[in-house]
Amino acid sequence: MNAKTGPLAPGSTIGMIGGGQLGRMLSMAAAQLGYRCHIYAPEEAPCAADVAVRHIRGDYADDGALRDFAQQVDVVTYEFENVPAGPLRGLADLVPVHPNVDALELAQDRLSEKDYVVGHGGRPAHYRAVSSLDELRESLGEIGTPAILKTRRFGYDGKGQVRIKDAGEADRAWTEIGEQPSVLEAHVRFDKEFSILIVRAQDGATRIWDAPENRHEDGILARSIAPGGGIVAEQKAAAGDLARNIADALGYVGVLTCEFFASAEGPVFNEMAPRVHNSGHWTIEGAATSQFENHIRAVCGLPLGDTSLTSERVEMHNLIGEAAEDWPRWLETDRAHLHLYGKGEARPGRKMGHVTQLF
Ligand code: AMP
Repeated sequence: MNAKTGPLAPGSTIGMIGGGQLGRMLSMAAAQLGYRCHIYAPEEAPCAADVAVRHIRGDYADDGALRDFAQQVDVVTYEFENVPAGPLRGLADLVPVHPNVDALELAQDRLSEKDYVVGHGGRPAHYRAVSSLDELRESLGEIGTPAILKTRRFGYDGKGQVRIKDAGEADRAWTEIGEQPSVLEAHVRFDKEFSILIVRAQDGATRIWDAPENRHEDGILARSIAPGGGIVAEQKAAAGDLARNIADALGYVGVLTCEFFASAEGPVFNEMAPRVHNSGHWTIEGAATSQFENHIRAVCGLPLGDTSLTSERVEMHNLIGEAAEDWPRWLETDRAHLHLYGKGEARPGRKMGHVTQLF
């Protein structure tokens, strides 16, 4: 467990592990509050480094390089959850690490995450741990079809998942998932998807943003609409209570994101991310305090800011791949805020930017 960090005086240095667009927007929020960010990332030119004071290039598993990095900063946070937990745990002796490494480790393993959520009053889809083809067949017998087989570790944006329509597909699914420890989940019949973005401060205070409805295309978030209406509005309080229980139980500091399916039986927990999240990008213009600013406030030991909406309705559109080429059109649209991440090549599926429209 970390020592209490703050408050850290403006002018202090935040160490950010990971150099993608989340780190970029966190660094911009940190700069607004007078902090300096050092980015630790393996890429040659990560997009967060364009807006930070320093970039240290290093592997996420390089203990020595990470320790050097930690010695030059006042607090460490991360924007990416697939960082090996071991080396990060070692850093906590040198400098506070927020969110704590227990939370990171939990969110890295779908099975532990679901067990933990069940232990705190949440309800995921019916699930079973699967570590062999025989176990997969047995679990399909119990859960039925359609079902989804997901790797326990390193899944994101719909990657590391295989859909199973019928029990006869077990062999194919086991090969496709790479014969690795997995979780089989029942396919949930849901009306809408939504997320809870909660921030928890070092003194335990929490704030929750209005729950956005999230629409995915090809397993990737395409649009978030806040506030989510209808069934999302009905279920956000129960989902928010669960997210708060989890954040409290973990002694969490920073922004925590929990994704849910709104089903006829109530909110079904899907997964959590121990970080700011794509479904919270709308908060930059759409909320009094953004997820990025509140994350920085939390890790620096400052009081949290108001999370209320600034507009009746807010819509965030992701600019994925070539969609970013349409950027001039957004500049001509009133109350549309264009964000481009400064990434080079617009490969299919690559998040190049987003637009937030206020209504
Ligand atoms: P994930 O990476 O687990 O968030 O999955 C990506 C997307 O796949 C989700 O946002 C859902 O649209 C869909 N999905 C994942 N798990 C399930 C499930 N158990 N039932 C129905 N749809 C799912």
